[in-house]
Amino acid sequence: MISEFLDIINELKKRNIKKIFIQISEGLKTKIEEIQKIFEENDIDVIFSLEPTYGACDVRDEEAKRLGCEALIHIGHSNFGVKSSIPVFYVHYIFDVEKEKIEKILERYENMFIYNSYTIVSSLQYVNYVKYVKSFLEMKNKKVYTKKVLEYEAQILGCNVNAAKIDEAEAIIVISEGFFYPLGLLLEIENKPIIYIDLEKQEIRDISFLREKFRKIIAWNLVKFKEAKKIGLLVSWKKGQIFYDVFKIKKEIEKMGKKVYIFAFDEIVPEKLEGISVDFLINLACPRIFPDDIERYKIPLLNFSILLKSFYEEKGVRSNSI
Ligand code: SF4
Repeated sequence: MISEFLDIINELKKRNIKKIFIQISEGLKTKIEEIQKIFEENDIDVIFSLEPTYGACDVRDEEAKRLGCEALIHIGHSNFGVKSSIPVFYVHYIFDVEKEKIEKILERYENMFIYNSYTIVSSLQYVNYVKYVKSFLEMKNKKVYTKKVLEYEAQILGCNVNAAKIDEAEAIIVISEGFFYPLGLLLEIENKPIIYIDLEKQEIRDISFLREKFRKIIAWNLVKFKEAKKIGLLVSWKKGQIFYDVFKIKKEIEKMGKKVYIFAFDEIVPEKLEGISVDFLINLACPRIFPDDIERYKIPLLNFSILLKSFYEEKGVRSNSI
């Protein structure tokens, strides 16, 4: 990890950059003291953004410049391809494998591996664990697949689980901490068992049974959409979260005889909708508003991609995700 910082510091020195703006993933905020120390020892001033930064889709170059910074450092994320008016450096903050810990977990839960073949995926911070788990399973005569879609072999994002899509494998193993990544897989992969290696709780669980809950919510909310007369479209102006032509979508929904409002946010949170009277919300920003935050909303909500998929299915066009 330190070497990642040193490479960036060398690059900053070459470019004579002395003031940097840091966006840091939520889970790494506890590290700000040691991070500031590394830069200050190299005569570089640091401003930490404490606005939530859930991914590298959120690039705050304009805010950084406004505060007098010359470069942006994104910590805990890999490049999402968002353009910036100042240099952006990505510190991936990938953890070394704690061999003893993972060995203990794998041995304790060995009986969980009942299938003959697996795809392994991981969040960015744990990609180093993939090889370790792969060789453990191969020693047990299992067939193991991985795929490189993002920067690292087997890496997935909350909004991109394509590395998990390997037809030959019977089940999917996800290595992570917290439920963010496993939940993304549950939503996107329709019919394979999802085995979660939870490094935080140090346990392995088959979480496939949770799919049913989301299927029911989606089915219920699709009915609510049909009944709704007033629709709110939720958009974010975060640079990497502008996925659709919102005006075109508004017109299409108006053709269904519904009144449509467009609500724009920095971070989309339900409290900002207090006092607004609509019957249904369609999320066009980060596709993890649904399902992650669904229980916080009083108004039924679905991602635009889910609605679109259901329209296609009604017309008889098949798609592979929920
Ligand atoms: S769009 Fe959402 S899931 Fe994708 S990188 Fe951004 S915050 Fe993460």
